[in-house]
Amino acid sequence: MNTRLYTLIVITLLLSSASIITASGDNTTSHQASSIQEDILEMIEQINETQLYSYHHGLVKFGPRYTGSINCTLAANYLYESFETIGLSVEFHDWHYAGFRSTNVVATLPGNDPTSDAIIIISGHYDTVQGAPGADDDASGVAALLMLAQVMKNYSFNHTIRFIAFSGEEVGTFGSFSYARDAYRRGDNILAVLNLDMIGFASTTDGGRILRFFPPERSQWMAEDATRIADDYYDHLDMTIETLPSYIGADNQPFVDYGYDGVWIAHRDGYPYGHSPEDTAEHLNWTYYTKATKLMCAVLAEFALQPLPVQVIITAPLEGKGYVFNKPVMKLDLGKFWYARWRGATVLLGRAVASADIRTTEPLRYVIFCIDGNFMFWDSEPPYEWKIQGLHWPLFGRHTLKVYAYTENGHIASDQMDLRIFTLSYQYGLW
Ligand SMILES: [Zn+2]
Repeated sequence: MNTRLYTLIVITLLLSSASIITASGDNTTSHQASSIQEDILEMIEQINETQLYSYHHGLVKFGPRYTGSINCTLAANYLYESFETIGLSVEFHDWHYAGFRSTNVVATLPGNDPTSDAIIIISGHYDTVQGAPGADDDASGVAALLMLAQVMKNYSFNHTIRFIAFSGEEVGTFGSFSYARDAYRRGDNILAVLNLDMIGFASTTDGGRILRFFPPERSQWMAEDATRIADDYYDHLDMTIETLPSYIGADNQPFVDYGYDGVWIAHRDGYPYGHSPEDTAEHLNWTYYTKATKLMCAVLAEFALQPLPVQVIITAPLEGKGYVFNKPVMKLDLGKFWYARWRGATVLLGRAVASADIRTTEPLRYVIFCIDGNFMFWDSEPPYEWKIQGLHWPLFGRHTLKVYAYTENGHIASDQMDLRIFTLSYQYGLW
């Protein structure tokens, strides 16, 4: 106890003398000075209402697209063909879950930085509730994906961009859940998920220049970065970003449950036609919708171009596993229990080892392991590992493991995951 406290004081002094003890987002905290990129302005100008309407019409013409219905399948084929015509490589990601069988449509624009395997996902859902044509919810998000893909296809970015149209959203976010789970098991390095769901409506002057972000706490940095980008391009977009608390029922949440960052993005004004046969193209505000798509173009482009001087990826314990004394003995999908946040849950019975993969081209100063925001352990040599221990209140319950990396150049990055810890593992105890 005393030894640990002493170490903590020494570290705190070291950190403050290096003056990098700033509040950190999940990624780099030192941003470039605000600047507008000519290429991005050029992309923004190419986004136009006529093309957006055409993509949107191509989707809503099928009518209601309830997951598993024939219309839903026809819509998936339309999206596949549209991405293919744009010139991207496309694939169906088939899923079946909770009695539903359907497919997500995934188009990829590969990044050109050979040192980066980071992926930015931009998504929407093409399924609807029964009886609703879903013009706003969510053909607006999906047609924006096609518009963005068409324009951005002709430019190059450091990181890979994936445009994903999910199904199964209205029945329990099962399409995005299946995708996030599979991506996690593959080891995809997903940096951020920008989930567009209802971005086509405004009925007031104020609402006509606001796009809302609903980030979970760990993904606040996404809303902060997007707000800065909206400010930089304000003269060209006339749009700002408003940040609200997170909502767990959208397609970004399964990614968050599997340890990635993701945010739901929507218009501000209340939409009176949601989930009804009245959710049609005539009820959208096309001027606003086009502006919202332009803003997302700037945000997506800047995200995909951002330098990543350092990145932390927690590699153990694994999301969605039950551990007994550091052995993963159970697979815990629990995908139907999305409302209880049991998706991708990790349960520890007895002590388990936490480890992190640190990706950086700069010399590392140290790596710090925290539980619930409290310093636990630091490491300066690979492998970066810490045996999860100590008494954390509540003794049997949910905790957050967060790992920070600090480079000599003053860059900081972090990754975090939720853990259900069921152990009485006193620091020097046996279990
Ligand atoms: Zn929706």
